[in-house]
Amino acid sequence: LVQLSMPLNFMGMIYREIKQALIDIDDMFTILHRNPEIVDRPNAPALAVGSAEVRFEDVRFAYNPDRPILRGISFAVPPGKTVAIVGPSGAGKSTLSRLLFRFYEPQGGRILIDGQDIAAVRQDSLRAAIGMVPQDTVLFNDTIGYNIRYGRWDAGEAEVREAARLAQIDRFVSGLPEGYDTPVGERGLKLSGGEKQRVAIARTILKSPPILVLDEATSALDSFTEREIQDALDRVARGRTTLVIAHRLSTVVNADEILVLDRGVIVERGDHAGLLAAGGVYAAMWNRQREADAAREALKRAEDEA
Ligand code: ADP
Ligand code: MG
Repeated sequence: LVQLSMPLNFMGMIYREIKQALIDIDDMFTILHRNPEIVDRPNAPALAVGSAEVRFEDVRFAYNPDRPILRGISFAVPPGKTVAIVGPSGAGKSTLSRLLFRFYEPQGGRILIDGQDIAAVRQDSLRAAIGMVPQDTVLFNDTIGYNIRYGRWDAGEAEVREAARLAQIDRFVSGLPEGYDTPVGERGLKLSGGEKQRVAIARTILKSPPILVLDEATSALDSFTEREIQDALDRVARGRTTLVIAHRLSTVVNADEILVLDRGVIVERGDHAGLLAAGGVYAAMWNRQREADAAREALKRAEDEA
């Protein structure tokens, strides 16, 4: 028994260390895409965030040298504005967000925040400035309150509740018998995709970062939930420099600029009205999605009547 207790203690220590590691890094997105090749330069300074302008300058990137993914991407998100990226699956949209987080570094060009090359600043300071609402939120096997507070550990109870209210999940959580102390995840309450996304939004509201990256994935949700989440996302994005990867074009109508990405190249750019008038790729995507929406509505009406 004495012999056994040592390894058990040791395991407990490792467990605690892993748990601590999970707390210390920015979020699960960071874990999943951790890349040991990205190392801070000696004496790299912290990013000094001012008005939070994001700028991509002729960015080129490949995961494998023989297959270029981004082939010269240039755009800027002015302070407090929203730039939307649309385009077919595999175009390189999520790769742009991974580069902004510096999970990978471009082989050509630069990414600047307030004029500072993100390759030259400390990674922790970069990630502290950016809030990410990913497509698939991974929750910790802990309480719902813990999962929201993860955005900022020193947040008080009232702040957690306020963030949850803005993310439109407070009513749901308050209705649970154990409220914010309800365990979630594998061993607890299973949340739907929309509920998990709202937890991620609450977490991001609490973190209150100057720069936001939203990878929307609302097409799988019913239209009521989708609208609620969209409202919550709009609220978070207000006044923040925002890069939104949009799967549904209805969410980009108000973006300050829309970039259409295809096979690693920006093939069209402009605002919604301008792109529609141009009658190109974006206009075709828009019409296709409108037709699909209309067909879905008609089907739903027929089902309701039957
Ligand atoms: P999107 O978000 O527009 O759907 P991604 O940026 O995720 O596209 O991916 C762009 C391309 O890069 C795809 O062809 C994808 O298969 C490839 N890709 C993504 N991640 C990796 C990786 N870690 N290693 C190699 N290829 C990758
Ligand atoms: Mg993607």
